[in-house]
Amino acid sequence: MEYVSTRGDQKVLSKEAIYLGIANNGGLFTPVSIPKIDFEHLKELNSYKKVAKYIFSLYLTDFSKEEIDDCIEKAYATGKFDTKDVVELKKLNSNLFALELWHGPTYAFKDVALQVLPHLLIRSMPDSYKKALILVATSGDTGKAALEGFRDVEKTKIVVFYPSEGVSDVQKRQMTTQEGKNTYVAGIIGNFDDAQSGVKEIFTNPRYVETINKMGYFFTSANSINFGRLLPQVVYYIWSYLELLRKGFIKESEKINFVVPTGNFGNILAGYFAKRMGLPISKLIVASNINSVVSDFIKTGVYDRRREFYKTISPSMDILVASNLERLLYLVTGNFEMVKKYMLDLKENGYFKVEKDVLMSIQSDFWGDFSTDFETKKAIKSVYNEFSYLIDTHSAVGFDVYRKYKDKTSDITKTVILQTANPYKFAKDVVNALFDDEYNNIDPFEAIEILYQKTKVEIPEGIKGLLSKAVLHPDVIEKDKMFDFILEKIKDS
Ligand SMILES: *Cc1c(COP(=O)(O)O)cnc(C)c1O
Repeated sequence: MEYVSTRGDQKVLSKEAIYLGIANNGGLFTPVSIPKIDFEHLKELNSYKKVAKYIFSLYLTDFSKEEIDDCIEKAYATGKFDTKDVVELKKLNSNLFALELWHGPTYAFKDVALQVLPHLLIRSMPDSYKKALILVATSGDTGKAALEGFRDVEKTKIVVFYPSEGVSDVQKRQMTTQEGKNTYVAGIIGNFDDAQSGVKEIFTNPRYVETINKMGYFFTSANSINFGRLLPQVVYYIWSYLELLRKGFIKESEKINFVVPTGNFGNILAGYFAKRMGLPISKLIVASNINSVVSDFIKTGVYDRRREFYKTISPSMDILVASNLERLLYLVTGNFEMVKKYMLDLKENGYFKVEKDVLMSIQSDFWGDFSTDFETKKAIKSVYNEFSYLIDTHSAVGFDVYRKYKDKTSDITKTVILQTANPYKFAKDVVNALFDDEYNNIDPFEAIEILYQKTKVEIPEGIKGLLSKAVLHPDVIEKDKMFDFILEKIKDS
């Protein structure tokens, strides 16, 4: 299996795609063809790990079977995820299911991929290679999940940048208290897009690259531009279909919908891979918050970032430049020149427009809409009242957009809504959603206690102890000082 840059010119095997992270010309490595699932074989795989090993083997053809087995076994070892099979599928009613992806060490879906990525990366690096310097821009959850995944991993150092005023208090605290000898964290004065474009600029600046090469490092990425992030996410779409089948909730080959709270378009793109692999998916439903640049694109074919950036109660989706859309554009058009033109238009004019046939192809697989903060809070309350099920602010965007989808289409296809974070990560907004803003003035950590008192839903271990942990990473820097920060941190170690 070969991987091409979405902008052409470079073709590599999966190991190289993983340790490079991004292609030389700024494109994203994408498989040249998408393998098909052998359903007879799949049906015999009775655990999450077995499904993961099978799916990995279709894509990572330059890894040995032992290497793949080892990566999966270590990533999903007993005790790492607080549920038996990595993720959990809950039935809400005969048509609606919640796929809980937040049972990992940092309580967001990012763990499912970021527990595997370090193992893939270590096995991808040529023996003589320098140390990996992993740069991460985060809107909150990726940063913590990447720090946990890479902490104390040999031959790696990890530097995380987050928007200092753009993450929840729990998210910030999780990152600034990170332990591990090879972990570095800084807030930047700016939003997520500033952090992401700062990281991209550092990656592609030859002077910076040369400087750190001389110091014995090479840059790589743990963001979802890395194919090693995307692949582990394909697995849970396929696993949940199997689970629905095994429990008798659907018939063989029955089509299902997935609703995906969307920011950078990584998670839902994994669903698109699953669909192209033959999984019987009817619609992939993009659920955006009011930074609705992606759902607007699905509706109109125009991707327009020339708009105000809003801070919302679903901060991990506060994004205007969704990197992974570039992979979709390549997979749909199969044409490097078109992708390059779209990306150039976006860079130079702030928008691009796809042709009618491209839009029609995208709309045959996707549907999209957005949810305001007000609607998101209403969804938290109504889902709790109707199903006694507590959801976080991001997953609530999914529920609200699903309501809109049903109103507009009357589709009764069975539907799985991806649950992307544990509600305690966003306790203050969740408790205020449930109790009509009664607790607007409380401390965010007090909110955790109140949410527990009111719902008796268990507080995750790692969130309980957060307030008493020492802050080890207090830095907040200007956005043009990111490279200086990196240099200072790697200088004498
Ligand atoms: C990252 C994140 C998202 C958005 O996922 P993308 O892959 O960026 O589309 C949604 N919800 C939560 C809780 C997240 O951490």
